[in-house]
Formats: sequence, C-alpha cells, structure tokens
Amino acid sequence: MIAPFCVTIDCDGLHEHHAVWGLPAPTDLEAGAFYQRSLEEAAAWLQDRGLPATFFITGSRVPEESLPLLLQLHGSGNELGNHTWSHPYDLSHRDEVSVRDEIRQNHRWLASHGVRCAGFRAPGYHLPRFAVPALDELGYRYSSSQITGWVYPAAKWAALLALRLKGRTTNTVRHPTTDIWTPPAPYHPDQAAPHRPGNSPIWEIPIAASRWGLPNVGPLIHACPFPFLFDTPVSRPWILNLHLTDFTPGTSSTPLAHQDFMLRIPLVRRLTALDRIIDRARAQNRPFLTMAAAVQRLPG
Ligand SMILES: [Zn+2]
Repeated sequence: MIAPFCVTIDCDGLHEHHAVWGLPAPTDLEAGAFYQRSLEEAAAWLQDRGLPATFFITGSRVPEESLPLLLQLHGSGNELGNHTWSHPYDLSHRDEVSVRDEIRQNHRWLASHGVRCAGFRAPGYHLPRFAVPALDELGYRYSSSQITGWVYPAAKWAALLALRLKGRTTNTVRHPTTDIWTPPAPYHPDQAAPHRPGNSPIWEIPIAASRWGLPNVGPLIHACPFPFLFDTPVSRPWILNLHLTDFTPGTSSTPLAHQDFMLRIPLVRRLTALDRIIDRARAQNRPFLTMAAAVQRLPG
C-alpha cells in the first residue's frame, strides 16, 4: 500500500525562533505580525494546491488576531495538534508534573475553542518519556516528535557549537544520542525509552529521514538544489515538517533574518522548493492527508 504524505506546520511563536538564535525577545507587536502574516501565507499555499495540513499549536503563542484563521483552517479539513502550552525546549529534562501540565493546559485551551486534539508534537524533536502516559490519558492517537537519521542531530550540534563560539546563548538542548536508533516507520513507543518500539497504545510517527538520509525539514529543502534527495519509500508515511518561518514573507531586515539564512531566501523561491517536493509525492500517487487521517490507516 502507498503510505500518505502529510504536511505538518509547527506554529512556534517568534519568541521561540529568537530564543534559538540567542536574540532578545520580540515585542508583542512583532510577534503578532510574524504569526499572522506567516499563517496567511501558509493557508494560501495550502489552499492553492488543495493540500490539507496538520498545524501543531502552542497555545500561549497564538495572538488573538490569528485565532479566527486557525479555527477557520480547523473547520475546513485541516487538523490542529498539540505542541505544548509554552514550547519548553527542555521538556525532556522536566519532571512528570511539568510535562503533563504543558500538554494538558494546551489541550484544555484548544478544547475551549472547540478543537479536539488527537495528536502531539514535542518541541525539539524528542518525545519525552513522561509525555507518553500523559498523551494516553487524554486519549491521543499519536505523537509525531522523533526525527530520524544522523543529519539533523549533526547539523544542530554544529549550529550550537557555532553559536557558542560567537558567545551567544540558545534555548535549544542537544539531542539524546539514543534518538539515532529511532525507527523510520511508525511504531508504538516503549514508555521508558520512546525512541524504541514498545507497547504504548499511542503511535509515534517519526519525521523520518528520506531514503538518502535527509530529514524533510524546511531549511534543508530550501537550501538543497536536488529535491530527489528527499524522496521517501512509499511503504512509510512521508512527513514534511515546516514552521511558520517557512512562509514568512519579506523579512530580510529583521534581526531573525540576519541570523537565519532561510529568511533571506525570497518567499517565492521557498514555496517553489516546497512545490517540487509536493510534485514528487504526487508522482508517487501518495494520498495527501492530515496526520489524524493518516494514523487511521495504520494497522492496530
Ligand atoms: Zn516547535
């Protein structure tokens, strides 16, 4: 059977992107404009191409003016998933109560707006062990948190080293090395060590590396001139992982764009790079589904 293609968009706030690069916190006005403009571009891109998407939401970062568009997206065939209440990058180092609170508070907030979540993505691409029972208790069907292969952890390690050499601090934490053993196909995680298969009722659907070992993440797709390197075997879901920054228009003069090369690439070129990936998935006859719909097709 041909496994589906899922567009996923992590809706981190501008605060998170600034923290990653060691920049001072943005003003509410800057953060609100970033969120709304990026979300509008993402919604237009999806609609033009007839694609559904799963938006992973961090409730505390949603500006009031963006809530109607998110709910409109939810009501028109897209999925809103749980990306924790405040996006702590050190979630995997927190105690059980704190992890549960982050997940539950965001779940309740989304529920108060009529959104019933079925899925979760952890900040920082690592599913903490305390998250697994918390998701089970809420009746979630899946997490899509682990990233597979060695390219992403290596790139992150190099970026952290570069920031440290420049004397800057960052909020991201290094990947547990055991995560390189994460299987690329969906699995039920072991509660004590979620990077490996076990018998938890939820699924982990990793953001799996392509057959060439590249993770399907926005910055790499925009920078790589060879889209075939992102091809994923048809036997497993092809999970495209994007952020609002992939859709941020005209930001060459902002502090974030000075740090993040991706924002210096014109939006039209970024979207063209994404289109090439979508075209390749279409050529494989992949169904395009939300993560919640994709998980329904998994056995057991
Ligand atoms: Zn995030």
